[in-house]
Amino acid sequence: MKILKIDHLGIAVNSIEEGKKFWADVMGLKFKGTETVEEQEVKTAFFPVGESEVELLQSTSPGGPIARYLEKKGQGIQHVAFCVEDIEAALEELKEKGIRLIDETPRKGAGGAKIAFIHPKSTGGVLVELCQRD
Ligand code: ZN
Repeated sequence: MKILKIDHLGIAVNSIEEGKKFWADVMGLKFKGTETVEEQEVKTAFFPVGESEVELLQSTSPGGPIARYLEKKGQGIQHVAFCVEDIEAALEELKEKGIRLIDETPRKGAGGAKIAFIHPKSTGGVLVELCQRD
């Protein structure tokens, strides 16, 4: 597969408002706005850094994936996202290599990107997101 860049770091937070105080006010990153991804029960906020971004993730429901992550592990880096040229081809290649996928086919992520997650059991403990932006 062809990886183009690190697209973003996904950071689970209790509150985007609180997170903004560090990432925007202290670190001086530009706040690009928020977007809610209903099907993932998450509200996201993006802060561009060069060609990549910091993505803050706040849960919108008590049973959602970010809520469960925060309960287990607390705030912190939740996933690393890599931009690929062709996400369908990348998933095929991973399947052939016996890599465990959370998403066998791409789904819709923030900003209209196609995204898919690789299971941390197959990556040495890192939740890896692949994304393709057109
Ligand atoms: Zn992400």
